[in-house]
Amino acid sequence: MSILVVLEPHNDGLKRTSYEAIGAACAISNGAPVHGIVFSASESHVAHASSYGLQQCMLVNTDEATRQESAKMAATIAEAARSINATAVVFAANSFGKSIAPRVAIRLEAGLLADCVEIHSADGSLKAVRPVYSGKARITVSATTEVSVITLRPNVFTAKQTSSGSVSCSAFTSTLSASVRSAAVTGQTKNEGTLDVSEADIIVSGGRGLKGPEHFHLVEELAKSLGGAVGASRAVVDAGWRPHREQVGQTGKTVSPTMYVACGISGAVQHLAGMSSSKIIVAINKDKDAPIFTVADYGVVGDVFDILPKLTSAISSVTGK
Ligand SMILES: Cc1cc2nc3c(=O)[nH]c(=O)nc-3n(C[C@H](O)[C@H](O)[C@H](O)COP(=O)(O)OP(=O)(O)OC[C@H]3O[C@@H](n4cnc5c(N)ncnc54)[C@H](O)[C@@H]3O)c2cc1C
Repeated sequence: MSILVVLEPHNDGLKRTSYEAIGAACAISNGAPVHGIVFSASESHVAHASSYGLQQCMLVNTDEATRQESAKMAATIAEAARSINATAVVFAANSFGKSIAPRVAIRLEAGLLADCVEIHSADGSLKAVRPVYSGKARITVSATTEVSVITLRPNVFTAKQTSSGSVSCSAFTSTLSASVRSAAVTGQTKNEGTLDVSEADIIVSGGRGLKGPEHFHLVEELAKSLGGAVGASRAVVDAGWRPHREQVGQTGKTVSPTMYVACGISGAVQHLAGMSSSKIIVAINKDKDAPIFTVADYGVVGDVFDILPKLTSAISSVTGK
């Protein structure tokens, strides 16, 4: 028995969500080995992962084109999981994990425990807690299959540095992935320099209260001063003011940042579904009865056009950003 954690390279290391996944896997391992798999030939990506508890890692040397093909990556991960008799395969529930984990679950005939906010190991089986009904309730689920595939909501599990040492790396080559039929990627747009909301530690989101796309610089400037990402409500995405990748909510992204600042957002249930597990929620709205205040830790009843420039200037003077 062992656990396989699917890791995502980022700059010289891994994404923070990968360290969170390693920590969660170690917590449920009961001493069983925790292996990683990363689509990179470079050991340097996992150099710091040992301090989070990773012992061994498979390096998959793939080209950029294969890294865009979810079906091939899923085939490789499933094959790697079989090679170590993994009883659990752990992903972050970000766009990468959400697109690949279900395919891995099918290949391994495994139950999929998706978007978990808690995971426990008891009596040899795994139990996970996940939000349902747009975050209004939580259920405890477990897989009845031998293998479980688990995705973990980003920013919920703590990435704790607990040990030292080094990760033992080995190359893994898939015998299956070349034969997997996959859709060809004909082009892609990179969001250079922008922080993705699903992984940001601080998010400043804007809604219809901003009145038009030309005023979103107020949200961008506050986000910049805090070193955070820009998010948006569906109303402004539908209106074409902001790109869909920024949408937070039931039909957008689910986020759990350390701080979420909602500017001119009413707090419709579909928006709350995507952000109510944020650790600190700050709301700025001119309507004191706006539903966003029911979930806010700090509320400012006021006009965004008045509050945002003052807040940005005060924060910039401290952060220097
Ligand atoms: C199936 C379905 C799925 C959906 N999925 C999502 C989703 O994923 N994400 C999402 O966000 N929505 C989603 N929605 C839409 C949701 O119901 C709301 O319509 C939407 O969230 C409203 O966006 P908003 O808060 O920006 O706009 P509004 O509801 O119009 O609110 C604007 C707010 O700004 C305040 N305001 C106005 N002027 C100012 C000012 N000058 N200063 C300060 N405050 C001001 C107002 O008091 C108001 O509270 C979904 C709806 C459906 C039916």
